[in-house]
Amino acid sequence: MSREPLLKTSEADEDSVGEGEDRELRIILVGKTGCGKSATGNTILGRKEFVSALRPGTTTVTCQRGQGTWNGRTVLVVDTADILSSGAFSDEELAAEIIRCIELSRPGPHALVFVTQVGRFTAEDEAAAKQVQDVFGLEATKHMVVLFTRKEDLGGGSLRDYVGWSENKAVKELMGKWGRRFCAFNNRAEGKRGRSRSPS
Ligand code: GDP
Ligand code: MG
Repeated sequence: MSREPLLKTSEADEDSVGEGEDRELRIILVGKTGCGKSATGNTILGRKEFVSALRPGTTTVTCQRGQGTWNGRTVLVVDTADILSSGAFSDEELAAEIIRCIELSRPGPHALVFVTQVGRFTAEDEAAAKQVQDVFGLEATKHMVVLFTRKEDLGGGSLRDYVGWSENKAVKELMGKWGRRFCAFNNRAEGKRGRSRSPS
């Protein structure tokens, strides 16, 4: 079933935003519960804006946004609630939540960031990836970035090698679909190290 894309593309918005505003980078973090979305949002913003903790049940009950700067550019981060955990939301609640998180990123996000953990791509991630495509629309996935948390688990190895040599079929498929842009974060790193954009 094909849906109307819920997301407006960022290029279309560039002309309509006011001066100064177009320097703002807006991103939405998505992924299964516990993959590290909130921690990633905190790393990007450089402060503890979102509650990030491994707990049974959900810690982020509704989407939230935070604003900060990244390399001199204003960045707006929308941390999504655990909308992709099966059964947590009814279809109506899911639709309302998606609309809310898109509204929080008005006039529209530049990128959707799919968060997953290094070495732990499970069936749940696969289901979350499918749902992202379903609820945000195919168009949105053109603006997808795959972000691996727990970069430290690479033990100094290259992310490109990890992805390239992965035996995991689902990871390969995901990278084939969305992986033109990918990066890794260590959200536990002190200072700005965790914010490195380098894929290696
Ligand atoms: P969310 O449910 O996707 O928002 O996930 P959280 O941000 O709440 O993170 C879940 C758990 O993973 C927390 O205990 C985080 O501290 C931990 N975590 C997130 N990113 C990293 C990372 O890069 N390295 C390590 N070691 N732990 C991380
Ligand atoms: Mg969270």
